[in-house]
Amino acid sequence: MRLIQSGPRNAKVVAVGESPGKNEMEKGKPFVGAAGELLDRAFDQANKALGHRALIHDDVFITNICHVQPPGNDFDWFLKPQPRPELMAGIIQLKTDIEQIKPNLVIALGAWPLKILTGKEGISKWRGSILESTLIKGQKVIATFHPASIFRIFDNHGIFQTDIRRCAEEAGFPEIQLPQREIIIATSGELLARYIPEFLKAEWLGCDIECFERADGSWQISCVGFSDRPDRALVIPSSTPEWAIAVGILLGCDAKKIWQNGQFDLTVLEDNGFKVKNTVWDIMYGHHAIYPECAGAEDEVKKLQGRKGTVKSALGKGLGYQVSIYTKEPFYKDDRKLWKAARDASV
Ligand code: URA
Repeated sequence: MRLIQSGPRNAKVVAVGESPGKNEMEKGKPFVGAAGELLDRAFDQANKALGHRALIHDDVFITNICHVQPPGNDFDWFLKPQPRPELMAGIIQLKTDIEQIKPNLVIALGAWPLKILTGKEGISKWRGSILESTLIKGQKVIATFHPASIFRIFDNHGIFQTDIRRCAEEAGFPEIQLPQREIIIATSGELLARYIPEFLKAEWLGCDIECFERADGSWQISCVGFSDRPDRALVIPSSTPEWAIAVGILLGCDAKKIWQNGQFDLTVLEDNGFKVKNTVWDIMYGHHAIYPECAGAEDEVKKLQGRKGTVKSALGKGLGYQVSIYTKEPFYKDDRKLWKAARDASV
């Protein structure tokens, strides 16, 4: 098989695209067209931001999943009606290359490299997360949008650059270092009695509710999460007998309360009979003040307006997006409610 690859076999970073286009087939090298230029510019910007040359095109081993050009540059051709031998051969080649090179980091460029390297689906959700490969155990992977897709949705350009900057930060070491948080799920009065006094000492409390909509359109609270410091959170499920007293005490205490789109949470809390003291900050508004162009609605605003819809660009105000650019917490928004309330409060 003629391989469309470039770069040294002792590279610290491997970048994986989908399949070569016409230019790449002619030159026998990956990413030599406009998508490659965009990638190189993102490397340059990341190096400038970091103040050292962490990502240099010639030092990165650049490859693809498949090494032939699909008709119409449509990657689906490799999969439909059933996986083609070129795909299987490409995956085996990729695994062999990465196992030999042993890079600190693999950058997955687009949805298919993400899926094949990590088994995850949904590039808009998983981009920017620091993940472990399922194809090569222990291998650190960060995915971002495929550079060619940026020409179609230019709003994603800033996100792409942000992800590449994270790649530059992560390129120097192979370990997967994620934030560690203690999540306490208060399923009993004993746990509440133990932790409420501790949380009452906090100057700040990050707060979040999870709820579901009743048939009449009103909202029923399923749990409330509180975080008194970045590395821990207390979740109080509404199935714990003393939950309402405990939640009332924490919401009514003097600690400064921080929310994400608190307008929704505060309305639901009030409708459910809770009084909240000392709301001082909402990170959705803070984020909007810094990046007003992040107009995408995503989860919270959609929830507030009670509608479903699609947001084309991944730029947004939702917590999922903010977490992906401000923290190293991997995507967790599809997790179950108790866990999500804890994460939402603590991130
Ligand atoms: N797109 C890819 O996925 N790979 C290339 O090599 C070029 C463009």
